[in-house]
Amino acid sequence: MSDNPKLFPVFMNLAGKKVLVVGAGEVAARKIRLLLGTDAEIHIGAIHFSETVLALTQTTFTLHHGPYQTEWLNDAWLVIAATQDRELNERIAREAEQQRIPVNVVDTRELCAFQVPAMVERGDLRVAISSGGHAPVIARRIRERIETLLDPSLGTLMAMTERYRPAIRRARPSLPQRRQFYNWLLDGPVSHELRSGNLAQAEFMLLSALKQAEESAQGLVTLVGAGPGDPGLLTLNAQRALNEADVILHDRLVGADVLALARRDAQCISVGKKAGENQNATQDRIHTLMKHYAEQGLHVVRLKGGDPFIFGRGGEELQFLREHGIAYRVVPGLTAALAGAAYAGIPLTHRDHAQSVRLLTAHRRPGHDIENWPALTQPGQTLVFYMGVKQIAALQTQLLHHGQSPDTAVAFIENATMKTQRVIHARVANMAEQAGEYNLQSPALIVVGDVVALGKDLAWFKSVMNQDTNAPYASPSTPEHPLHAPLHRTASLQPEHTSAKLN
Ligand code: SAH
Repeated sequence: MSDNPKLFPVFMNLAGKKVLVVGAGEVAARKIRLLLGTDAEIHIGAIHFSETVLALTQTTFTLHHGPYQTEWLNDAWLVIAATQDRELNERIAREAEQQRIPVNVVDTRELCAFQVPAMVERGDLRVAISSGGHAPVIARRIRERIETLLDPSLGTLMAMTERYRPAIRRARPSLPQRRQFYNWLLDGPVSHELRSGNLAQAEFMLLSALKQAEESAQGLVTLVGAGPGDPGLLTLNAQRALNEADVILHDRLVGADVLALARRDAQCISVGKKAGENQNATQDRIHTLMKHYAEQGLHVVRLKGGDPFIFGRGGEELQFLREHGIAYRVVPGLTAALAGAAYAGIPLTHRDHAQSVRLLTAHRRPGHDIENWPALTQPGQTLVFYMGVKQIAALQTQLLHHGQSPDTAVAFIENATMKTQRVIHARVANMAEQAGEYNLQSPALIVVGDVVALGKDLAWFKSVMNQDTNAPYASPSTPEHPLHAPLHRTASLQPEHTSAKLN
């Protein structure tokens, strides 16, 4: 056996199966008590039976008196060697192994085919903790923590749930509905009453809820904002929705590490714009898929980058769902501007510099150009442009034309909040040139305003991009460029600053 085996966790059904315990002292008694919680056919073999073990034997045990014999192993499914004789324990382990019977040798990890974990129990709910036998002390500490985490009333809740399982199944026929109901049981008034010891009131509430459960068998679409990239920026509600989803329709912008948080058997479908497909065809496909799955009674999560209502066509999706009588909910997310600015150390409305912030789309549809340019160049505000990478020259022209000072600070935040985040500081006067020089790529935000300059000092987020000297975009082509020296310095030092700094 390897010294450090990777253990496979199992909870085993021992009903009617023979389990042999060799030894009948205190140690054996502990294991026998555990076995009493199962319906195993318990055999105990020993020369002497301790008082403790004898006290347990009111239940029907089969006792083998005398020295260990190999025949005791016959037909056993599990063996526990709990004698004080090390050599005997070794022999039992060897013989059990020969017969392919999983064996546990008490306190001798290297002889064990299976280990018995530390446990926290609340009725049928069991949390097993294993340190692989390496750090029992840590396992015990973790167990104590879990003990405090799980209210004792959970056992009662489990028993009640078990009793009403068929009724719950009838009232909530589809899996997503049931999942929702169980969440309500755990988080809602039933648990609350149980914690206060009001069993009758809890039961009454459960029964009334079941009676009211004539909710249509229709599914549900939850529009979820996934934030701009860092999975840590998901809200608890977003995570809960991902846990409950049957189908996830996600944007191309939503990263793999966010999707990794979804329920394992949820079906993930990327509904990003395909090459050669226009926006409207993509949107129609999304609508069709949402309807298709919701009508099967499934819980669909429509997972969108950032916030669903900020430049995300979330509104149109809700209008569609409403027209088709499909139930929906919305979980807001952190929009790229808010999270990106935070990760670039740019306080969007620092009171010395800005009293308002505008979120704008630079994506131009025919007839939908930004109309109020004169208002945008008024002082005391911060502008954040989404979808602007291809429009930087046009934005620059408009800003200058409408009186924006060429000295106004500009930052490009590419892949905001991700490990690959890049922040490039520029000024309105050279913004198009800098974006080209650094080969700025989508997704990126363009932040314009006096607050941007603060980001040079306040930046804190450590991105991998600063460490990469060879990145083609990190090195401007002209050697006399002001950025050349600072960039080399940044690259050879600890990556303390996320930003390539420009003055
Ligand atoms: N609903 C999204 C925006 C969708 S529009 C939100 O609230 O954030 C797509 C645009 O969002 C991109 O073109 C880019 O400008 C911006 N964006 C989204 N994620 C981004 C990210 N991680 N880094 C920089 N910009 C991002």
